[in-house]
Amino acid sequence: MTTVRTVADVREALAGPRGHGERIGLVPTMGAFHAGHLALMRAAREASDVVVVSLFVNPSQFTSADDLARYPRDEAQDVLAADAEGVDLLFAPMVEELYPDGFDTSVDPGELATALEGAARPGHFRAVATVCTKLFSIVQPHVAWFGQKDAQQVAVIRRVVADLNLPLEIVAIPTVRDDDGLALSSRNAFLSPAERAVALALPRALEAGAKAHRLGDDPTAAARRVLGAEPSLAVDYVNVADLDGPTLVGAVRVGTTRLIDNVRLTR
Ligand code: AMP
Repeated sequence: MTTVRTVADVREALAGPRGHGERIGLVPTMGAFHAGHLALMRAAREASDVVVVSLFVNPSQFTSADDLARYPRDEAQDVLAADAEGVDLLFAPMVEELYPDGFDTSVDPGELATALEGAARPGHFRAVATVCTKLFSIVQPHVAWFGQKDAQQVAVIRRVVADLNLPLEIVAIPTVRDDDGLALSSRNAFLSPAERAVALALPRALEAGAKAHRLGDDPTAAARRVLGAEPSLAVDYVNVADLDGPTLVGAVRVGTTRLIDNVRLTR
C-alpha cells in the first residue's frame, strides 16, 4: 500500500490503472479504523481492481470544536490495518491540501440535510457533501462505499450524486456491530464500561421499534419506551425517516458522547 498526501500524487498513482480500464473503488473515512471500516474496505477489495481509502478528519463537518479536538486519530495503526485489507492507496491529506487559503465553494444538499442529524448539527451535511464531492472528483472512482450506520449520510450522498450527475455508483454496506449489539463507531472509545452498558439501550430500542413495526405497532413509541427506561441517557431524536426506505433512526447522548444508530423497518 502506498500512502499519498497530495491531490497530484493521487492523480499520478491512478493514471496508469485508469488508462488500463481498471475499476477504482473509494472508501472515504476519518480514520481510527474499526471492523466497520474494514468491512467497507473488504467489500471494495472484492469488487475493485484498485482500492483507494481516504483518511481525512474533515474539520468543517464537526459542529463542536471539542468533538474535533478529541476525535481519535491513529494513522500508524490505520496504515497497518488498511494494508492488511489489501488497500492499494491511502490518501491522507493535510487540511490545507483540501482547503487551501481562499477555498470558498460548497455543495448544499438541500432538504434531506436539514432533518435529524442535519437539525442536530447545522452545516454538517453541507461539509460532508462538499468533502465527498471533492474526493469523488480527486479519485474519480467507479464506486464509493459507505456504511448504513450513517443512513442519512448515505441518502444525502446518493442525492448529491444523482443531482450533480456525478459518474459513480454509491454502495452501502450493513452496519457492523459488536457482540453486544452496539454499532461500531470511532466514538465508542470514549465510553466508560458503565456508559457503554447505558449506550446499549440505543440498539435495544431500535430493535424493539423494528419488532413493533413488524407487529403493526408504532416503532417510534416502542423505541422511546426503551430509551425512557434509561435515565442516564439523553435522547436527541428517535424518528422514522425515508432514507432509501423506511428507517428508524436514533441519536442519544451518554455522558459527553453522542451516538447514532438506525434499523431498516420491514414488515
Ligand atoms: P467515519 O470514519 O466514521 O467517517 O466512517 C467512514 C465510513 O465507515 C462511513 O461510510 C461510515 O458510515 C462507515 N461506518 C462507520 N461505522 C460503521 C459500522 N459500524 N458499520 C458499517 N460502516 C460503518
